Amino acid sequence: MTNTNSLSDRYSDFVIKSLENDDKSVHILWDCCGNTYKQLGHKIIADDCSDPLVAIRKENIIDPSSVSAYDVFCAQVESGIIKGAERNDLEIDLSMKLEGDSDYELYHIYILFLIGKSGKVEFAHINIRKYTEAEAFSKGVLSVFSSDKAPQIFAKRISRMMNKFADKEIAFIQFDVERFKLINDNYGVEVGDEILKFFSNSLSVILNDDQPFCRLTADVFMIVISFDEEDEILDFIHMIDSMLTGYKGIEYRLIFGVAIVEDRSMHTRRLGDNATLARQSVKGNALKNIGFYNGRLKTELYQQQTIEDDMTEAVIHDEFVMYLQPKHCISSGRIIGAEALARWIHHDRGIISPAEFIPIFEKNGFILKLDLLIWEKACKQIREWIDAGIEPVPISINISREYLESYDVVSKLLELINKYDFSINLLQLEITETVDTEGTSAVVRKMKESGFTMLMDDFGSGYSSLNMLKTTQFDVLKIDRSFLSEFMESERGRKIIEHTISMSKDIGLDIIAEGVENNEQAQFLNRCGCDKAQGFYYSKPIPVDQFNKKLIEVNT
Ligand code: C2E
Ligand code: CA
Ligand code: CA
Repeated sequence: MTNTNSLSDRYSDFVIKSLENDDKSVHILWDCCGNTYKQLGHKIIADDCSDPLVAIRKENIIDPSSVSAYDVFCAQVESGIIKGAERNDLEIDLSMKLEGDSDYELYHIYILFLIGKSGKVEFAHINIRKYTEAEAFSKGVLSVFSSDKAPQIFAKRISRMMNKFADKEIAFIQFDVERFKLINDNYGVEVGDEILKFFSNSLSVILNDDQPFCRLTADVFMIVISFDEEDEILDFIHMIDSMLTGYKGIEYRLIFGVAIVEDRSMHTRRLGDNATLARQSVKGNALKNIGFYNGRLKTELYQQQTIEDDMTEAVIHDEFVMYLQPKHCISSGRIIGAEALARWIHHDRGIISPAEFIPIFEKNGFILKLDLLIWEKACKQIREWIDAGIEPVPISINISREYLESYDVVSKLLELINKYDFSINLLQLEITETVDTEGTSAVVRKMKESGFTMLMDDFGSGYSSLNMLKTTQFDVLKIDRSFLSEFMESERGRKIIEHTISMSKDIGLDIIAEGVENNEQAQFLNRCGCDKAQGFYYSKPIPVDQFNKKLIEVNT
């Protein structure tokens, strides 16, 4: 007989003796190392190490058909075993169902962990006793412990279904209600609760046994499904979305995140976290309510998080600065203007490029603040040139599309020109023209009518089309870097550039090329009739004091 067994035996002897008169509770001794069970107590089942379910069933502690209650029980004990190493015992109140249709009843479960020589929990002594009605009443309303609220059971069911569908793919799907707080605020917490209850109830009807689900926190639910083709996931989500959206005519939107399991050995918790990341990635996106997890997303979201955490402080500490990139006349070499480009001089990370923070700001609306800040710096700079007796060159500022739809941008710009008091042709506006929307062209028209010079940014980058040149309000086309470099590679491409330039001039549009990186490009453009260029060949975007030096050097 091994030591372990003798510890178990010694302990069971002790329990049997001390419990001779106890006919109210059931005692089970669980051998955590071998996962076997013995029942002790008022009726001793032969220690044949039977399945605990058998033992429990015999005592009518848990209705075998009420699998969730059984799972709750085991999950609680298991987690207790882990915690047991820190604490010696665990006490829980558990409401369980005895018969299929009966009510839940409250049980007191006390577990004592027996720690062996190794320092690990080797046995758990579980004592289960039903509360009397009076006791239960004094404990308050019985909390129904069903699978939709018990993550531990959920984890068990997931592993069970993953084993069952070894040859299928598995997806973790998480969803929540966008701005659920608003529902609570507008309709009251009761209605909010009602909706969540409606979700739980509906899911338990819609989903089958092989599609476990769980309510993770307030309004976040998780479902795990198996599938063969990825289309099935979308069909499934659309089905869930349509069934759960629009409770009693209340408007809300569900946001879904999907993580497809690539590594089955990964902890279910982490798989769930991936679904969370996917869900968060589409928060606030008006067009999409389903996000998919991929590894890249994680780093992106992390960076997004730090950027969002720091942006407000960055304004206070003046970490956003304006760099200027000169625009040159190719034939004379003179500086004929500049583009204002934002840089974030982060106190920790150093210079962060706009490619990293602009897309995030565009998504969260902070771009409105940043743009205003840069515009003002540009206007201030023009004023400083004039005051210093330097011949000013026009600065072009970038206007984010977000601005065009939500803000009276024209009066803001006019206000700035007024405040710094200079001629309107010194401030030029760069807008990326995409597939034309009514709103945009109306604002662009207004800008143009107010006297601004309008530059169509990124021309040829894929969004713009020749068709829109027909009616455009723009004055200048800014040829995109990629258009220039790609098309310059072939004879055919060079022809296209050449004709685009001559056609634009024909219809009265001026042209400047962006991203000019070498003399060959500059000379080619010049031959085609485009005499203005901006790019690393001339200068990268540089801090204002460097720009000023250059401006004086080159132009005087
Ligand atoms: P953009 O308006 O197309 O600006 C031109 C970008 O091309 C700049 O990148 C510039 O550094 C880069 N560039 C210029 N010449 C060359 C070249 O010869 N070779 C290469 N490889 N690149 C060149 P930057 O400064 O990183 O800005 C990226 C984008 O961020 C800008 O593209 C613009 O869309 C946006 N952005 C920058 N500052 C602001 C701002 O203050 N407000 C708004 N709304 N957007 C801004
Ligand atoms: Ca630009
Ligand atoms: Ca551009």
